[in-house]
Amino acid sequence: GFRMGIVGLPNVGKSTLFNALTKTAAAQAANFPFCTIEPNVGEVNVPDARLDTLAGIAKSASIIPTRMTFVDIAGLVKGASKGEGLGNQFLANIRETDAIAHVLRCFEDGDITHVEGRVDPVADAEVIETELMLSDLESIEKRRANLVRKLKGNDKEAQQQDRLLAAAQAALEEGNPARTVAVDAEDAKAWKGLQLITTKPVLYVCNVAEEDAANGNAFSEAVAKMAAEQGAGHVVISARIEEEISQLDAEEAEMFLSEMGLEEPGLDRLIRAGYELLHLETYFTVGPKEARAWTIRKGTAAPQAAGVIHGDFEKGFIRAETIAYEDYVAGKGEQGAKEAGKMRAEGKSYIVKDGDVMHFLFNT
Ligand code: GDP
Repeated sequence: GFRMGIVGLPNVGKSTLFNALTKTAAAQAANFPFCTIEPNVGEVNVPDARLDTLAGIAKSASIIPTRMTFVDIAGLVKGASKGEGLGNQFLANIRETDAIAHVLRCFEDGDITHVEGRVDPVADAEVIETELMLSDLESIEKRRANLVRKLKGNDKEAQQQDRLLAAAQAALEEGNPARTVAVDAEDAKAWKGLQLITTKPVLYVCNVAEEDAANGNAFSEAVAKMAAEQGAGHVVISARIEEEISQLDAEEAEMFLSEMGLEEPGLDRLIRAGYELLHLETYFTVGPKEARAWTIRKGTAAPQAAGVIHGDFEKGFIRAETIAYEDYVAGKGEQGAKEAGKMRAEGKSYIVKDGDVMHFLFNT
């Protein structure tokens, strides 16, 4: 599955957000009770109204949403890259994530200490980014030193790695994150393999006061501007509100949301933003037994999409029978869509589209 690491300075609302994410009713849906893998790792359901619609049409006995993993990476403070506090250990956790959700304090509250003594989310973002860049620099220097011997032996892979590490190092030394380096297609895989923290896509999460949840505030606007300049994502959320919603049942939650002038829980927007950031899409498998959503990267071909369900589906792939979501709904199910000529037989090169209802045929 895909993993998002939640980072941010202390006291910005990370734990509040993480707890809301993992304790919410949606996360505890019947089929997959929320499980704490480790204290700081939680799996959440990806909200998708289409799945319920499909299950309703097919009268599926169970509904299984697709999942996303969040990792609460606490302990990141100024000086973390120098091993102050437990910083370095946490940086290792970030390396294993696909993207970073960076929580920024966009609320004023005299009772809650800000580690830097003022509320300035853009400056906070820089503090954390600097730590991440320093951490990348340190690991690059170590890795390049380790490559020296192999380079003397004219090792092609080592040469490629060293060349890419040098490019990242140059960017970082100029104060830019490694994601600003332009990488050729033939280097893309090796580049990703370097697992540099500052190559990961970033989603800024503006944690605003309850009264600003619907419209944001001057702090979140400053963050939005920064995010746009960096090509990063951003969402406005009130962790406090999300925490409250997570303790309500569905009906109460809806009433509470409309009182706050909100259309949906901020967590839904957060999860969706993570999906967009990672270029993820959903396809469905639908039958009387279950309706289920599956996550793939955009541009995934049918056999690899089938492989998300089971490796054997990919290995023995013959073809897929596919109905677009809209056609499935318009036909009131598989039979109707088929009669309308909307069921397609697709081969190995078919690129699965968001919302496709898929049925895979494979050799065992
Ligand atoms: P962390 O250190 O980043 O994990 O921060 P916490 O989630 O523990 O939050 C630190 C404190 O800020 C807690 O007392 C929270 O209740 C409080 N807090 C979190 N979000 C908000 C908010 O939107 N408004 C206000 N006033 N307090 C908040």
